[in-house]
Amino acid sequence: MKKIVIVGVSGRMGQALLEGVFADNEFILHGAVDQKGSSQIGHDAGERFGKLSGVVVKDELSEAVRGADVVVDFTRPEASMMYLDVCLKEKVNLVIGTTGFSQEQKAVISEASKRIAIVFAPNMSVGVTLLINLVKSAAKVLNEGYDIEVIEAHHRHKVDAPSGTALRLGEAAAESLGRSLDTCAVYGREGITGERDSNTIGFATVRGGDVVGDHTVLFAGIGERIELTHKASSRATFALGALRAAKFLGSKISGLYDMQDVLNLK
Ligand code: NAD
Repeated sequence: MKKIVIVGVSGRMGQALLEGVFADNEFILHGAVDQKGSSQIGHDAGERFGKLSGVVVKDELSEAVRGADVVVDFTRPEASMMYLDVCLKEKVNLVIGTTGFSQEQKAVISEASKRIAIVFAPNMSVGVTLLINLVKSAAKVLNEGYDIEVIEAHHRHKVDAPSGTALRLGEAAAESLGRSLDTCAVYGREGITGERDSNTIGFATVRGGDVVGDHTVLFAGIGERIELTHKASSRATFALGALRAAKFLGSKISGLYDMQDVLNLK
């Protein structure tokens, strides 16, 4: 049995992960952590599910992580960086689902993966992982005369835009076309924008209600459009993917992996 620690346990993803852990007899909940002031601190992690897990939610990872096999983190970049530090000190592998990291923070994660094993993916769903591959294939064929736009929609509480998944999809298309997303991305349009530059990849963001996560990559040519769409209907898809990633890390010593590695799609 794998001893798992969930950080950001009171959050939407934290709760979906807990549900997944309780339903999976390959895991035993070893620790549960959230930030100071979170209403669940001091309570049993299973309380909201009417189940006593024997694990009390703490506001500090160092103690909760000792003796664990893996930490799963869906929080905020500043919190993730702090938790990464603790995992490095305690030599515990880490699954990072948090999104919205800066390039500098991503470089720190990459450096850390020389000392512990990390799965880092902005979208842990199996469907989106497959979609990334489909976008790569489509971009290879539709490499001339097709404008590429990435459209995403999420619930009103999401704090970063475009979503990490939208950026990953844009990157996948750019990689296939031999471009760098850094130089060809256009984030939103307003006013007199002029005609569309055919070398760009555009992003459009929708925020509202309780949308779990919709992503479309549109290839618009003359006389036809191809749309590759994924719609998540429940956070369970991300939680199940993250738990699959936690199993994948197993007894790996180091390395940076994504969901393509976890699903053996490379
Ligand atoms: P949420 O706001 O519901 O939960 C975030 C949790 O992190 C809360 O419990 C909060 O208390 C905790 N937290 C926030 N700041 C903290 C800090 N500084 N220190 C410690 N804890 C802190 O958010 P959510 O919807 O669960 O999403 C969490 C993250 O996961 C976001 O970045 C989101 O974009 C990402 N996400 C990724 C995937 C994926 O598949 N990779 C899927 C869904 C969400």
